[in-house]
Amino acid sequence: MKTYAELLEAITATSGEARDAVDPATGEVIGKSPTQTIADLEAAIDTAEAAQPAWAALSDDERKAYLHRAADAIKDSAEALAELLSREQGKPLNGPNARFEVGGCEVWTRTAADTPLPVEVLIDDESGYAEMHYRPIGVVGAISPWNWPMMISIWQIAPSLRMGNTVVIKPADTTALSVRALVAVMNQVLPEGVLNIVTGPGRTVGDALTKSPKVGKIMFTGSTPVGKQIIEASADNVTRLTLELGGNDAGIVLPDVDPAAIAEGLFWGAFINTGQTCAALKRLYVHDSIYDQVVEELAKFAQNVPMGVGLDENNVLGPLQNRNQFDTVDRLVKAAKDSGARVVLGGDPDYDAAGNFYPTTIIADIDPHNDLVVEEQFGPALPVIRYTDLDDVVGLANELEFGLGSSVWSADRANALAVAARLKAGTTWINSHGGLHPMVPFGGAKHSGYGREFGVEGLKAVSEPHVISG
Ligand code: NAD
Repeated sequence: MKTYAELLEAITATSGEARDAVDPATGEVIGKSPTQTIADLEAAIDTAEAAQPAWAALSDDERKAYLHRAADAIKDSAEALAELLSREQGKPLNGPNARFEVGGCEVWTRTAADTPLPVEVLIDDESGYAEMHYRPIGVVGAISPWNWPMMISIWQIAPSLRMGNTVVIKPADTTALSVRALVAVMNQVLPEGVLNIVTGPGRTVGDALTKSPKVGKIMFTGSTPVGKQIIEASADNVTRLTLELGGNDAGIVLPDVDPAAIAEGLFWGAFINTGQTCAALKRLYVHDSIYDQVVEELAKFAQNVPMGVGLDENNVLGPLQNRNQFDTVDRLVKAAKDSGARVVLGGDPDYDAAGNFYPTTIIADIDPHNDLVVEEQFGPALPVIRYTDLDDVVGLANELEFGLGSSVWSADRANALAVAARLKAGTTWINSHGGLHPMVPFGGAKHSGYGREFGVEGLKAVSEPHVISG
């Protein structure tokens, strides 16, 4: 499966009910993903359940070696995977996009394999002896979204396998082929039945996966409303949950920054993956004393960043992945314009274009409670809000139900840290926004979810803690 054609042939549906996979840059149908049923899901769960004891019985070193072989397989097929991802998701090959995402899949798989999680001795003294083991849970159900479909699926799959669980993954409907390809590549080297995939329809198959009594843990990444449904659906079986939900991240620019120096970092914090990133900078609060310069420098940088068809090596921004997302962004930008906010850049899509292209959009002089600021728009539109008082802006940053990421921009680290300590979020970055590391726990505060992925925390999240005492 080294070429795009070989990969596509291995995963595209040739019979039965199927859904067209559509290139969001061109409208072209690139392949078909099977429409699967609850019976297909149950069969996959049974397969995962049957394979789990033998997988768990392997030594930790044996499972690590399998994960490294899976990472090697991803590396060997990287260019084909990136091409498929670009065609189906829309993100360009270059920039922090398709090749970067496939590379991330390899890195996260290797890190999940190599992160130590030894038995912990909790007490060993005259009061007694107790140690903590991290056992497999059993079958993990993984439900992933369409914005970073391969990488987010890997975040769910790799730690689960490492800890001795088997996996059934259900990808988002509109990026199902990308995840089918990733799974097919990994399954060239993994034992049969350990990693299984069932494609949509997302709502029915996802709901049944969540409610299955044979599934011990759900790793879910998606919107907050669906996360709440999953909490309810998991109640009967007391299914363990990691919920990575929506975000609407605030960035606060303090008055001491050099606007030209931070423009590029602000841009990529906000517009990576054409804004379709949960922990992207979505609300930028800039101090009045430097507001006009920051807006000007940001727009100057943004207007030169090329957007277009992902397979064109020059582009680093792509289309929105689906028309619903385009319509959401369009509605919110119109709401901002109607309110009298100032369009600095963009805001004028070509509605007749073949692809879902929405131009890079910067909106200034906007009310802090405009819908574009307070709703999760998940696209390439950045509202920039003027502030004068630090307490006020911290209040605005914290007032939404979301609490995924946030950032503080300042030339003075002590000042930045003091503001960061006041923000309610899973992560606060200083002078950047959105960078992730496979050893640094990531997740949300408030309605952005609970549980953490990555690093040791991420391994513990897919294990059952078991104390041996005495
Ligand atoms: P979504 O919630 O619509 O769908 C996510 C997944 O859930 C899909 O696979 C979908 O088919 C499935 N699903 C839908 N209904 C279901 C149900 N009732 N039961 C079980 N599964 C169901 O989200 P999306 O539109 O695919 O992705 C965008 C959202 O994901 C945004 O809100 C974004 O912020 C969020 N997101 C969060 C993170 C994070 O790490 N916190 C990362 C990426 C995306």
